[in-house]
Amino acid sequence: MTKALSREASVDLAGRRVAVRFLRNRRARRIILRLDTNNDGNQDGAEDGVVVTLPGRTGVEEGLALVRDKADWVLARLEGRPPRIPFVDGAVVPLGGVDHVIRHTGAGRGLVRLEGANILVAGGLEHTARRVRDWFRGEAKARIRGKVRDKAAVLDRTPGRITVRDTKSRWGSCSHDGNLSFCWRLVMAPESVLDYVVAHEVAHLAEHNHGPEFWRLVGTLTDDMDWGRDWLRRNGERLHRIG
Ligand SMILES: [Zn+2]
Repeated sequence: MTKALSREASVDLAGRRVAVRFLRNRRARRIILRLDTNNDGNQDGAEDGVVVTLPGRTGVEEGLALVRDKADWVLARLEGRPPRIPFVDGAVVPLGGVDHVIRHTGAGRGLVRLEGANILVAGGLEHTARRVRDWFRGEAKARIRGKVRDKAAVLDRTPGRITVRDTKSRWGSCSHDGNLSFCWRLVMAPESVLDYVVAHEVAHLAEHNHGPEFWRLVGTLTDDMDWGRDWLRRNGERLHRIG
């Protein structure tokens, strides 16, 4: 069993502030260090960080010592990550694979709308990030719903509930009772990538495996499945660094 410790810290590595979260796992045999890919709650882009898993009785200080010991590795890994792009006024973010600019308009109630290549956000500046995120989520849900409906009809299957979340490890999933779940960030990717992921999950309504028949079905539901898979492998992490 792994549980999160309430203690958080940050260390200075060669002039860079690195946030450290701690987990406790009594079965771990040594301290485990990895990059923190869960960037929720860190919208200001100020800090990137690591997660340190501590075995049974190992104290936080020992964990911090390991982070300092491995400073070169940590810094190299952090440098290698795609840039973090928060949803703020002036930020350039992709929608359907096309760059759009977030523009805070100031006036009016808190509404978000699309105008050409601009995502216009009204209302208090401090709510911009949340409003844009909610809008992306809604947009993702609308686009995904339409595609699920069309593709499920081709297979003559009825999908269950469709949910859109901020999933970290999977772009989509299909439960045994036919409920489909997707990561909202897919709406930032080129449309054919979103199309591939929806085709993939809808094909699971008929084939709950990744056998040849499954892939044949995916191929009938979308045009560019190899390209879509490859695009996500190469660019997926970038999408998780936006917003
Ligand atoms: Zn699958």
